[in-house]
Amino acid sequence: MRPVGIFGGTFDPIHYGHLRTAFEMLQALRFEDVRFMPCGDPPHRGQTFASAAERLRMVEVAIFGQVGFSADDRELLRDGPSYTIDTLSSLRDELPDRSLGLILGMDAFLGLPGWHRWDEILDVAHIVVAHRPGWKAPDIGPLGDLITEFGTHRVDDLHTAVNGRIHIHAVTQLEISSTEIRDLVAAGRDPRFLMPDAVRDEIKKSGCYA
Ligand code: ATP
Repeated sequence: MRPVGIFGGTFDPIHYGHLRTAFEMLQALRFEDVRFMPCGDPPHRGQTFASAAERLRMVEVAIFGQVGFSADDRELLRDGPSYTIDTLSSLRDELPDRSLGLILGMDAFLGLPGWHRWDEILDVAHIVVAHRPGWKAPDIGPLGDLITEFGTHRVDDLHTAVNGRIHIHAVTQLEISSTEIRDLVAAGRDPRFLMPDAVRDEIKKSGCYA
């Protein structure tokens, strides 16, 4: 059975950097599906700009019609901070025999040692790191050690074990960030071609970044 990819983020808003990364993972790593998981109360950052409902809605319209993409709202339904380890554990309870692959951009991966119970993540899932413009994989420190011990270049290793490996995967570099999009919209400029038109329409309709 092929791995299930989990792509968490604030998605404030979702953009082509996220979508292209998830799509390349789906195809190149032969994932069964990729589940987009907007986080409710992100523990590592302040308030989001768009509400949880708006961010989920933008994810839903962005992925509409793409086979293998789905939105998962479990972090939005849970009270308190959205800890990734809790999310992965709840997925593991549902899918005890499936390979799970947590998809992270390199910037998010570098912040991993600050996450709640981060050292338990590999007990539950694999970590798949997408190369992101301007960020380099660590070769020293706790993450460097982790890559030395658990890193693999072989996609098959993500299929044969259900958790426990780290795979760094180069994706097409699209230097787009949600911050840049919010700033553009707030400045009265059009974010067209940085995201699907359906997301742009939602932003216009809700006025969430104006
Ligand atoms: P912000 O600018 O608000 O910090 P962001 O664009 O980084 O947002 P997030 O929702 O915080 O988006 O990111 C969710 C996940 O997507 C993270 O793992 C992040 O590393 C990854 N990601 C974000 N933008 C890109 C991109 N352009 N290419 C590849 N991965 C990305």
